[in-house]
Amino acid sequence: MIAAPGGGKGTQGQRLAAKFGIQHVSSGEVLRAEVGAGTPSGREIAAYQQRGDLVPDRIVFDLLTPVVAAAAARGGYILDGFPRTLPQAITAADLGRRLDLTLDAAVYLNVPEPVLMQRLLARARADDTDDVIRHRLEVFTETTSPLIDYYRGRGILVEVDGDQPPESITADIQARLPDH
Ligand code: ADP
Repeated sequence: MIAAPGGGKGTQGQRLAAKFGIQHVSSGEVLRAEVGAGTPSGREIAAYQQRGDLVPDRIVFDLLTPVVAAAAARGGYILDGFPRTLPQAITAADLGRRLDLTLDAAVYLNVPEPVLMQRLLARARADDTDDVIRHRLEVFTETTSPLIDYYRGRGILVEVDGDQPPESITADIQARLPDH
């Protein structure tokens, strides 16, 4: 799942995972759990998240790899928030191959920026303050949005209008996913 902050990755990821009976893996949640555990890497992660910067790839890989492997062993997964950079996309593809999984689709939820701002300000998570939100939106545009063309070029991009009621978005995604 690819979307800007506030784009609905979490909501749609959970809905789709429940429908398909597979695991929902949210990188943001995995990272926040480490922060909650109060480990040294948790303290490092908190500093990046509070600024709205991406957490360094090394930390993300170390924490996400075992979670993704466990989800693969249980029949597959929806990744929400990972990969978020081109190097992460390459690593995620390698990991998928090692786990004997194919990447069926990259779902991009397209949401206009004013709608994103509104949703994030209403949510009020610790990193949902005005300045940090603006920075996260910039990081998305600069660093994550190139993934949209990357997956389009690989023929697996599913782009949907993310400014609709949640159930309509889920229906659009389901209608566009490849058959099994
Ligand atoms: P949102 O997409 O709304 O910003 P997330 O929970 O997906 O919320 O991410 C929150 C924060 O966690 C990000 O701003 C970033 O600091 C960190 N993060 C999440 N996923 C990644 C990732 N794949 N790579 C680097 N940092 C990440």
